[in-house]
Amino acid sequence: MPRSLPDTVLIEWPQSLSQPAPDTERALDRAADLLRHGGLVAIPTETVYGLAADALNATAIEKIFRAKQRPATNPLIVHVVDVGMAQSLAAEWPAAAAAITAELWPGPVTVVVPRGTSVPDTVTAGGATVALRCPQHRLTRRLIEKLGRPLAAPSANRSEAVSPTTAHHVLESLGNRIDLILNGGSCDCGIESTVVDCTQVPARILRPGPISRQILEEVLGRGMVMECDRLSRRVGLQAARAPGQHARHYAPQTPLELSPCAADRVACLLRSGKRIGWLTTQTNSANARLLAQSRELVIVPMPEEPVLFARQLYATLHAIDQRGLDAIVVDAVPDTEAWQAVRDRLLRAATPAPAIATGES
Ligand code: AMP
Ligand code: MG
Repeated sequence: MPRSLPDTVLIEWPQSLSQPAPDTERALDRAADLLRHGGLVAIPTETVYGLAADALNATAIEKIFRAKQRPATNPLIVHVVDVGMAQSLAAEWPAAAAAITAELWPGPVTVVVPRGTSVPDTVTAGGATVALRCPQHRLTRRLIEKLGRPLAAPSANRSEAVSPTTAHHVLESLGNRIDLILNGGSCDCGIESTVVDCTQVPARILRPGPISRQILEEVLGRGMVMECDRLSRRVGLQAARAPGQHARHYAPQTPLELSPCAADRVACLLRSGKRIGWLTTQTNSANARLLAQSRELVIVPMPEEPVLFARQLYATLHAIDQRGLDAIVVDAVPDTEAWQAVRDRLLRAATPAPAIATGES
């Protein structure tokens, strides 16, 4: 029988205050209590909203997989409050993990390290490594502190769908499958963390994200970080080398395509009678102004700066997906370092659905 919708509780902690408001403290206490008893709580982080459970409670972890319909082969990121908690979950602490966590935590970067014995098999998908992140979001850290235990938290969406960057997105995607939603407003980064495999030298980027390769190189030294190899090959054809590295992910329901000549492509689709959403940074071009007269076209202006583009991307996809259009066309973004994380998400959103489920969520 479907459960009723979860409570959505507003939480806030203005920069000017040294402590959160009493209502927020009470909401966090309630969330910690639910988590202590094996519940599922959606939490804001600086990247996207997470679906959190006690990382050391295997039964609670299974609930995450069920709620998201996430394949058991796709491991979870474990969120910790500090390096000490992270180390308690690792069998070894490689030099790359030590440097990254010392310089960049708390923040939107996840380190993959050899797994400690306390971590349930379900969290690591049976693998020998565990992915660890210390979020920057003050309220998430407060929650982990109150619980005194690490939180496993994948993005709070159904498997393969667009990740949530607001509490409303979580409610729409997972509604009756969770116990509580903590509403901390919109996520700052808007895309998932950078994931770095620290078990090898040089370290390897498994998923590009808000912390760029350039920043990682500044921390680890020149030549000490390998590019995410997914991007250098044709997305969709590469076999999953690391757990969870599948091509299709972050995809809206409406078919999405990336186009280097987006205005022409949009014009062509409109001529064939399709209703189109166009995400473009070129709203002032003559072509765009001409096309804008079509009633079958929704033009969504996107920022020309990659950090702002990332922040807005998922919210835009969620919104445009509601319009029931025939296709979404997105201007191809530059193949430069600064755009890697956005490019990765767009390429994967554009990958056609395979016959067999691919597994990322
Ligand atoms: P999500 O939290 O839904 O954004 O997904 C977590 C992602 O973290 C997975 O898709 C993997 O790419 C990555 N990940 C988690 N654990 C591991 C691990 N042990 N080894 C490699 N990648 C991992
Ligand atoms: Mg996800």
